Amino acid sequence: MSGGDNLEFEIRPNPAPVGDAERAALLANPGFGRIFTDHMVTIRYADGKGWYEPRVEARAPIPMDPASAVLHYAQEIFEGLKAYTLPDGGVAMFRPDANAARFAQSAQRMAMPALPVETFLQSLREIIAIDRSWLPTSDEGSLYLRPFAYASEVFLGVRPAMEYLYLVIASPVGPYFSGGVKPVSVWVTPDYTRAAPGGTGAAKCGGNYAAGLSAQAEAIEHGCDQVVYLDAIERKYIDELGGMNVFFVLDDGTLVTPPLTGTILPGITRDSVIKLAGRAGRRIEERPVSLEEWRSGAASGRIREAFACGTAAVITPIGQIRSADDEFVVADGGTGEVTTELRKQLVDIQRGRAEDPFGWVHRVL
Ligand SMILES: *Cc1c(COP(=O)(O)O)cnc(C)c1O
Repeated sequence: MSGGDNLEFEIRPNPAPVGDAERAALLANPGFGRIFTDHMVTIRYADGKGWYEPRVEARAPIPMDPASAVLHYAQEIFEGLKAYTLPDGGVAMFRPDANAARFAQSAQRMAMPALPVETFLQSLREIIAIDRSWLPTSDEGSLYLRPFAYASEVFLGVRPAMEYLYLVIASPVGPYFSGGVKPVSVWVTPDYTRAAPGGTGAAKCGGNYAAGLSAQAEAIEHGCDQVVYLDAIERKYIDELGGMNVFFVLDDGTLVTPPLTGTILPGITRDSVIKLAGRAGRRIEERPVSLEEWRSGAASGRIREAFACGTAAVITPIGQIRSADDEFVVADGGTGEVTTELRKQLVDIQRGRAEDPFGWVHRVL
């Protein structure tokens, strides 16, 4: 069972799903990550037994022993991706195979067992099928899928756990920015780093987010929307935001983004932007960019635009940069042309409104 075999999911429909009228009211303004569908997927794992008891069941609290390893040592990983309603009424996921591969990489870094890629994909298809009525049909809504796994073994010793639980929950979401896409302001934290070489920066684990909350709070205190991190060694180069990768657009149209050296999360949106821009003939440079290059480039006009990208908000322009000793703007603090164009191209492919040259859109229904 722990190999690549296709597991047979046991389906236990929710006996008391949310009624049509209530669901319609919830879907009218879902926000982000606030409301959830009627079901969840659960799969258990035990050493020696592999993955077992794959189920689709009513979404409900999970009983947890106070000595569950995850509550003490944070052995936990997650993914995030979206399902969309297509123009013909069908449903598709965007690059779920890339999420499956990254989930396996995160598991490896956190000394957790890998879930077979096909089981991961099947679990997503199952929850979409049973909770299809929760998919927003609006132009900008989607169903956010959150697969995750944690150490469920009841044990306080420090070693990789021998039991795990994998789950998928689903949350209908509206547009990330209710008033349309607006540039964000970012705070360059002088106090905190996100990830060091050899650390867990490239793994999608909850611990990275816990470690970033103080830095995010610092950003808010300084009147900024998001925190941006510098590298941990020289404290000079831009790594990424708390949960989004960063791109710079030069005056000749070149895209520049920090390289994946282990301290940056390998974003699927980042990869999609690189591939789309490359296909359009745009130059791409994956190389370090210092805060000083950003500052002087913004002043001289060499750096025309900057944006952050990730599944939740897709592509978000960065308007203002604030650090302990300085403050400056890019693209006059507005949204640059290249940023707008890339965002539109990507969203149109995701929603099945444009040709899908890379086979990214996986139809489910
Ligand atoms: C998930 C995540 C991203 C964006 O990844 P996508 O696959 O594009 O959603 C970027 N940075 C961090 C730290 C993340 O956790």
